[in-house]
Amino acid sequence: MKFISYLARTVFFILVFMATLSACNGAPPPTITQKPIAMTEKQHPANPYYSRTDTTSLTLSDAVWKEVLTPAVYEVARHGSTEQAFSGKYWDAEARGTYFCAACGNKLFRSDAKFATTCGWPSFFETVRPNSVLYRKDSSFGMERTEVVCGRCKAHLGHVFDDGPPPTGKRFCMNSIVLDFEPDKPSSKGPQ
Ligand code: FE
Repeated sequence: MKFISYLARTVFFILVFMATLSACNGAPPPTITQKPIAMTEKQHPANPYYSRTDTTSLTLSDAVWKEVLTPAVYEVARHGSTEQAFSGKYWDAEARGTYFCAACGNKLFRSDAKFATTCGWPSFFETVRPNSVLYRKDSSFGMERTEVVCGRCKAHLGHVFDDGPPPTGKRFCMNSIVLDFEPDKPSSKGPQ
């Protein structure tokens, strides 16, 4: 009787062990990424116009943009919406790297030009190149502001103000949702 009980327990533990092994070989449980920091070209499979190297100006219809952008990016990039302060993924990001337009991949800012603010949006004192962005007069909401749009695809990025730090005195106040961040490789000094 004692032997049968021992045998039953042994078989039970073997079955549990095998079940555990089987579970480990299956699909891993989904992980929750709260702050997706880095986006690459390969992560834009639905947007054939996205390029980190092609600087050719893009002129696409609203219908095409709606098709190739995620709804959240589309709302800010094409309709000029503003994300809620402190809600974006980059407002307090400090990693070294490069920020690209999330709609078309155009290179916009280096982390070296990013500075800490209390406004709740990622802020930079200069762009990577003078023509990285274009400027438009914005008189909406009873205010006179300067809108900043992507120099390649004209996506709305945010606004620029004259209360930034040296050396430019500018504050490019951007929406995180229309930025993609690519961290520098460990040995890289970043694009010049
Ligand atoms: Fe763009």
